[in-house]
Amino acid sequence: MQQLDQQFIDNRWVVSQGTRRLAVMDPYHERQIAEVTGGDTADVDAAVDAARRALPAWQALGGEVRGAYLEALADALTARREALMELSATNNGKALAEAGIDLDDAIACYRYYARQARELEARQGRRITHDIEGVDAYCYEDPAGVIGLITPWNFPLVTSAWKIAPALAAGCTVVFKPSEVVPLPEQALAEIALEIALPPGVLNLLHGDGDGIGAPLTRHAGIDKLSFTGSNAVGERVMQAAAEGSRGVSLELGGKSPILVLDDAEIDQAADWVMAGIYFNSGQICSATSRLIVHESLTEALYEALATRIDAIRLGNPLGTETDMGPMTSQRQRDRVRDYLAIAEREDLQAVRDARHRQLPEQGYFIAPTLYRDVPTESRLWREEIFGPVLCARSVASDAEAIALANASDFGLAATVISGDPQRAKHVGRALRAGNIWYNSEQIVMPEASWGGFGHSGIGRELGPWGLAAYLEVKHLIGPAD
Ligand code: NAD
Repeated sequence: MQQLDQQFIDNRWVVSQGTRRLAVMDPYHERQIAEVTGGDTADVDAAVDAARRALPAWQALGGEVRGAYLEALADALTARREALMELSATNNGKALAEAGIDLDDAIACYRYYARQARELEARQGRRITHDIEGVDAYCYEDPAGVIGLITPWNFPLVTSAWKIAPALAAGCTVVFKPSEVVPLPEQALAEIALEIALPPGVLNLLHGDGDGIGAPLTRHAGIDKLSFTGSNAVGERVMQAAAEGSRGVSLELGGKSPILVLDDAEIDQAADWVMAGIYFNSGQICSATSRLIVHESLTEALYEALATRIDAIRLGNPLGTETDMGPMTSQRQRDRVRDYLAIAEREDLQAVRDARHRQLPEQGYFIAPTLYRDVPTESRLWREEIFGPVLCARSVASDAEAIALANASDFGLAATVISGDPQRAKHVGRALRAGNIWYNSEQIVMPEASWGGFGHSGIGRELGPWGLAAYLEVKHLIGPAD
């Protein structure tokens, strides 16, 4: 069994000071495949020291050279694409094809920020136009410093790419803690750092859980900024830790995103987009459109179309070519979702499809793809993030009612609008409170457009130029004109 008891610090593998060991699972075979250290504060101290020592030289290299390293990182990921897909599918439980989409997303992100690094260099010291005569003002963007990065388990290599790529492009050095649930694919980043001869201390990777590495990292005085993706409960603790020392923080948190089907939508096409929005990655997507809001004239036809599609989903081995949906990533997550299904039973929610409609595979942490209709707005299933293949639906009588219901949420990460009239779909989309709104589309994600949400869905934005700005400090030099 693989032992992940070494931390990657200063380009060296160092045995963790932590004595606790955590099981790393294959959720389909319900089998332990590795053991990872819980980590220790001493690991954090060593990694932060290394990142701090590396910072001045990494900044001084400039955006051209940093961009070349990011290109090399993307090339190295491309070379390992198939192996990493398999590792990701095995450790996370996602279907192989979905793991391929993840890899492509991560690679595109590193390439995009390679370009951003070069563009950053080109605009350093640009003159600012202003109205004061005899004065020149120049703008520079410096790295924000040593960054602590913490990611969840649902999109290994992707959530980390969205942080590591812009941070390194900006000239920051990083201490990265992947999720202890899915540490195997992320381990490749350390191996790649060595392979491409990234300067020591620029990228440090610490395995461990929240107690062993996460919390000590967020409290460490040598960290200038924290970037966290995960649950709201932990995100709030990260923000509290950042408040000590007035440090910056970016948070990508949960969601309860709506999908609106307007009365002129084409049923079959709408059903396909509804399916993709909730059952991808077994519903373990922060942007899952888990609240279906459908015009009453289409309700019955849409539920029928969805039921047919749900029945056609093939559950099974993530590595199998015939598999559409794998198990939940962990037993813990499977049990969390089951708790919501028990609430649904107590509340007597009407299921269009649930576990009663299908035979689950004999092994694996599976949850049957589920659709409840006419879910009361006060139900916890309607209000809370379930993070599983559970779709809750309600019907409405007008666009205005659909918009009001969509916006009646503490979260605001994403939304989808489906209409036969693209102008109408865009108009409704503009009225929604969310960071990413797709119209007549599946959830297209591109490194050029931002990611992040309104309200409880987080603070700040990743991807695009906004993702780079999160790791930069802006400064101006102002004085007499030359
Ligand atoms: P989680 O909050 O339990 O864990 C996230 C990370 O934080 C893990 O690496 C964990 O080890 C670490 N951690 C735990 N306790 C900590 C502490 N006290 N201090 C510092 N770090 C600590 O989340 P999860 O279960 O891994 O992921 C699921 C959640 O992530 C969902 O709520 C989902 O919506 C969210 N998510 C959001 C986005 C987004 O882009 N908005 C993307 C993916 C996932």
